[in-house]
Amino acid sequence: MKLENIKIVMVGTTHPGNIGAAARAMHNMCIANLTLVDPQCPIGEIAYSRASGANALLDNRQTCDQLAQAVADCNYVIATSARHRSLAWPELDPEGLAVKLSSMDENDRVALVFGREHSGLTNDELQLCNHMVSIPTNPEFSSLNLASAIQVLCYEIYRRQASQPAVKAPEPQDMRASSGEVERYFEHLQQVLESTGFMDPKQPGLIMQRLRRLYLRSELTRNEINILRGMLSAIEKRRN
Ligand code: SAH
Repeated sequence: MKLENIKIVMVGTTHPGNIGAAARAMHNMCIANLTLVDPQCPIGEIAYSRASGANALLDNRQTCDQLAQAVADCNYVIATSARHRSLAWPELDPEGLAVKLSSMDENDRVALVFGREHSGLTNDELQLCNHMVSIPTNPEFSSLNLASAIQVLCYEIYRRQASQPAVKAPEPQDMRASSGEVERYFEHLQQVLESTGFMDPKQPGLIMQRLRRLYLRSELTRNEINILRGMLSAIEKRRN
């Protein structure tokens, strides 16, 4: 894949210095797209001074209210976390991530999502992601500074991408579906599971979470999403 198709997404960041330091780390590694989701600090003097000249990245940043908006156009979304979660998410280490990205094609769009300094990412935010990446650390002290975590992953990706040509894109139907397309499928699926009585909206349990994990793990193509949506529509038509 191409480095220009990678975006770094920082969610709910509270320290402007971390945003500036992240911009510097990204620019060092030729990754230019920075998206801030609901930032909790002004992007002013402190951020620009920590960016140490990577000003263009801060000038060109995108800002969104919600993570789903920020990643809607991406077809591969990676969460980062220092912690292991109870509902296990498919995990990669930084090198595994870099290998995975180098096998993706020139049109694939990837988001690397970083959480809040104090609390990381929420479970709802994790639900949007295909994979989780953890940087191996001292098990007793596993949380890196936010910009340092961004540096480590951008370095691993840069090191591998710089030496490899981008893989040619497949036919449009065989491309991975975007996060926005997959989210619309999940909405449709939930509607049908509720209207057929398979899932009780008052007591949904973990069914949707588990189904999301299953589908996100399989990295659906547009064609596959169309088949699944077609099946749901046929069920709805029969019921009506
Ligand atoms: N106490 C928080 C730590 C947040 S650190 C928690 O328990 O999640 C802020 C962000 O830096 C994290 O959300 C993650 O995006 C990144 N980060 C920190 N340490 C990391 C690690 N070891 N591996 C991957 N990402 C890490």
